Amino acid sequence: MRELLEKIAAEGEVVADGVLKVDRFLNHQVDPHLMKRIGEEFAAQFHRERPTKVLTLESSGISPALMAAYELGVPLVVARKRRPLTMTSEVYRAEVYSFTKKETNEIIVSRPLLDSSDRVLIIDDFLANGQAALGMVEVVRQAGADVVGIGIVIEKAFQDGGRLLRSQGFRVVSLARIASLSDGVIRFHEEVMS
Ligand code: 5GP
Repeated sequence: MRELLEKIAAEGEVVADGVLKVDRFLNHQVDPHLMKRIGEEFAAQFHRERPTKVLTLESSGISPALMAAYELGVPLVVARKRRPLTMTSEVYRAEVYSFTKKETNEIIVSRPLLDSSDRVLIIDDFLANGQAALGMVEVVRQAGADVVGIGIVIEKAFQDGGRLLRSQGFRVVSLARIASLSDGVIRFHEEVMS
């Protein structure tokens, strides 16, 4: 998605250990116009799979996932990292190792929000090693529902997540694919292929 690549090139910042900081438009300050375009793009990519819910993980996935859910006309379910006091029902839970925080967290979703009739589109801001996406897949499986696709805003193609998810048969659509972040330079996959 051209606008996204331009935004990453202009405002993304490489920080240590292959991590891209996108705090100016995606996960701290958020660009609503870009999020709307991202939502439209995910909806165009996935509407044929007829999702009934979009699932993401708090907090950085919420902005793009909300716009995708809006465009698809379905509810957004946000997997929580901490159980709020108001979550009184039974929960689905899965363990997720965080690439950026280097720690294992539980993700939880209230059982009444997903059931076996659901067709779930998983959306996240980044794909690195695939652990966040696999945690969400696990929650969907516990509900007996189907994963109809995985939409990623920025895939770091030099890490294993994309290969792992695709080898398990999931349709993964990434709006930007990054080939490398070495030497502080952002290189897009398309650039390297051409
Ligand atoms: P994975 O679970 O695929 O290893 O990592 C994906 C999760 O880690 C995403 O939900 C995202 O929040 C975070 N993440 C992974 N790599 C990056 C990165 O380069 N920059 C930022 N800002 N977050 C990342």
